[in-house]
Order: sequence, then C-alpha cells, then structure tokens
Amino acid sequence: MPITFDNSYARLPPRFFAPAHPLRSPSPTLIRINAALAVELGFDPEWLGSTAGLDMLSGRSIAEGAEPIAQAYAGHQFGNLVPQLGDGRAILLGEVIDGAGRRRDVQLKGAGRTAFSRGGDGRAALGPVLREYLVSEAMAALGVPTTRALAAVTTGEPVVRETVLPGAMLTRVASSHIRVGTFQYFAAREDVEAIRLLADHVIVRHYPAAATEERPYRALLDAVINAQAHLVARWLLLGFIHGVMNTDNMSVAGETIDYGPCAFMDAYDPATVFSSIDRTGRYAYGNQPRIAHWNLTRLAEALLPLLDEDQDAAVEEAQDALGGYGSLFEQAYFGGLRRKIGLMSEERGDVELINTLLTRMTENEVDFTLSFRALGRAALGEDEPARALFIDPTAFDAWTSEWRSRLSRDGQDAEARRRAMEQVNPAFIPRNHHVEAMIAAAVERQDFSRFDRMLDVLSRPYEDQPGAEDLATPPQPHERVAATFC
Ligand code: AMP
Ligand code: MG
Ligand code: MG
Repeated sequence: MPITFDNSYARLPPRFFAPAHPLRSPSPTLIRINAALAVELGFDPEWLGSTAGLDMLSGRSIAEGAEPIAQAYAGHQFGNLVPQLGDGRAILLGEVIDGAGRRRDVQLKGAGRTAFSRGGDGRAALGPVLREYLVSEAMAALGVPTTRALAAVTTGEPVVRETVLPGAMLTRVASSHIRVGTFQYFAAREDVEAIRLLADHVIVRHYPAAATEERPYRALLDAVINAQAHLVARWLLLGFIHGVMNTDNMSVAGETIDYGPCAFMDAYDPATVFSSIDRTGRYAYGNQPRIAHWNLTRLAEALLPLLDEDQDAAVEEAQDALGGYGSLFEQAYFGGLRRKIGLMSEERGDVELINTLLTRMTENEVDFTLSFRALGRAALGEDEPARALFIDPTAFDAWTSEWRSRLSRDGQDAEARRRAMEQVNPAFIPRNHHVEAMIAAAVERQDFSRFDRMLDVLSRPYEDQPGAEDLATPPQPHERVAATFC
C-alpha cells in the first residue's frame, strides 16, 4: 500500500534534526494494529498487518516517501536545563495528511540508536510499549488530547535493563512531536533565525489563526498557554499523573505526550506520586498545574527574541501572556468539576462546594473515579454507593445536603443530569494494578489477552459494562502499586 508522506519538518534546515536509520528487527511479530486509527489516517489496516506492513512497523524497511529523522530538542529535566536531548530512541518516519485534512506525524519509538542517543541503546522494552499503547488509547477514548498508538510489535531482540526483557517498538502518531524543549534547543544556541522558523512552522501547523494576528508570536504563545492550561485541567479531572513533566515532554500542540511512569490515581490525594524517578514529588498530581506554568515560562523565555525587539517590552509581553494562564486553567478545571458534580449553571459558592468535597475525599481516602461515577446515582437520590466509599459516610452526608440545595437551583431534569454526569465521570480508567498485571502477563507468559481486553473495555470508558466490573474496582491493599517505572 503506498503511503503518501509529506514531510514538512524534514524540509526545515538540517540543524533541526539528524537523519536516522531504524533498527532492523531480526524477527518481528505483530502485537496489535489500531485499525480504527489506521483508517482515520487513510492507511489500509490489512496492509499494515501484512508482511510488508510489519516490515515498516518494525524498521525492517523504509516505506517509500518516508524520510526518517531524529528531531533535535533540549529540555529542563526535573528543573535542570539539558541543552541537548533529542530523539534518542524515536525516529520520525514522516508526516501524513489524515482523512480530516490534519497533518500527523508517524514515528517509530524504540527504533534504535540515533545521533541523540547519548549513552542509551535506543530501544524500548515490551512493558513500556504496552503501557504507552494502552494508556494513550485510553486517554483518547476519555476525550483527552494525546498522541496515539498505531501499532505495537515485538522486535525479537532482547533489551537489557535491570533484567533482560523482550524488545518492542511502538508506532506513535501525533499532531507533531514539537516540544517546549524544541524551542529551548535553539534558544540555548541563541539561534534566533531557527526560533523564528520553528515558530512559523508551529503557527502554520497548529495555530494558523495566529498568523493573521497583529502580533503572531504573542498569539502563538497565548495559544500554547491556552492549550496546555486546558490539557492539564483535563488530566486533573480524570486523576491522571503524567509523571515526567519535563519541558521536553510538553507538546506545543497541547497533546499528552511521552507516557513513561504515568499513572491514574486511585484514592484522591493531591500529593500522589507514582513515578520511581520523581523522588521529590515535583510532578505530583496536584503540582501539575504549577509545573505547566513553569514550563510555559521556559517557552516564553525561548520566544523572547520574537516577542519584541526591545528586551524590556518582550519581557512585558511574556509576563502578560503568562499572567493569563491562571484563569484559563481555573476556568477549565472548575468548569470541569462543576460538570462532574452535575451543575450546568455557575454560582459564586461553587468552588467552595467543590473544594469541600475534594477535602472530604482526601480525608476519607475515597477512590476518585468511583466516587464521581457514583455521584450520578446520588443525584437521583441513591446515595449509598457513593457514601459507602467514605471511611466516615457522615462526611458525605454533610456535603450532600449543601450539594442538593445547590442542585435545586440548577434547574435540570434529574435523569438528564445523571446522564450528563456519566459522560464526564468515567467508569473505567487504566488502573495501575491492572496495567501492571497486563504487562506481567505479556512479558512473562506472552499472554496478550489482558492487553486486548483492557483496550476493548477502555475504548468505551463512559459506559457501564456488565462483566467488566473487575476492571473498574480499585486495588485491594495487597494489589496496590507503589511505584511506576519507565
Ligand atoms: P524521557 O525521560 O522519556 O522524556 O527521555 C529523555 C531523553 O532520553 C530523550 O532524549 C530520550 O530520547 C532519551 N532516551 C530515553 N530512553 C532512551 C534509550 N533507551 N536510548 C536512547 N535514548 C533514550
Ligand atoms: Mg521524552
Ligand atoms: Mg519517555
């Protein structure tokens, strides 16, 4: 099947990337093709699953029209600037225009060493590939902007980590893989011409409306701030913890990117951290909005030379733009929480009402997902499923009396309210203990049935699914996952 590539990033100057050659997997096997996404991209899923397709997905052959490159970028890792990172184990095959006319990157992750690999082997182990596939597809089904998973294959080659693991490759699809760190790469080199070329590329590709604004680069900064404020609000509303919000892992397109030690929270607690590499809790659940602002400040710094010729005026522009972040985030976050508790209207005391619930949830170690899902039934007067989640159910009762009087002023039909609530409060999220069990089955026993089943259930996260209740329940104490690794 001919894939029509149109590689706009590869047409940027050579210093934006390094040519790269995917590793030829010795004996690849197909784990999974995302047929729906393939169709969306205009690819024939049957071809992708054929030997020729598998050759492309495993790096054995370069599809005609592909121009494999590793992209250059920098980034603040846990607060420290690393002026050169780049794609150390991901290779961009090229871009395609999907059925809706949108430009999408097609990238192989775990495709071997590149000019940016430093000490790394350029490879990916099966477990992280399956985690990224499952969680990114779950995020897409939950309605969160995200990179997508087109395919997963095993390579037939072992990967050496703490132990020897089966190697795998993920084919990742993104609106682009341009990061805050991509701008920082050129800022670190004081390469203003490149910053301008990159900004122009991003405007054309992601924010075309900015081009016609009086100050296009300010409009670009505003647009990225808006996109990331909304993205982080979505994460919080679903209990998602990215785990490694380094500036190289923040997409300027506002998609969730780089699923490493990411996790969904079970019991609600803003201090929740899973990532084994996040020793200080910098990227804890409740810190994510603050970190996004910090990262956006780094983007604004990189854009300073474009914002105004006069340095002081540029700084003022940047500060003005960054000053907008707080209210954009809060509107998205509290607007979302309002919908989660069943409110269509807006009143002054809503934020306090919401915060009271959240505080009681923390104090009572209440499961975040289950409790909001159960709130839909409570809106119909069936309190028991929700109140039973609280260590002290009277803490819930006290809150519901205030909540009910607020609902009575919201003027919505009770059944319609429940339906609306269930469209924003999922029944299913990729719970860590199930993700870990799924990975163990695949790695230890080549059993992909849990992976397939979870993918299927998580493709309809807002539907009650009889027979899948086991995937909706929080971990028993002995099942609890203490840390995630990438
Ligand atoms: P991450 O923490 O996943 O965002 O990765 C940070 C940097 O390390 C990026 O430049 C990656 O490309 C690089 N990297 C991660 N894993 C590997 C690997 N196995 N081989 C080479 N580079 C890697
Ligand atoms: Mg990364
Ligand atoms: Mg990563």
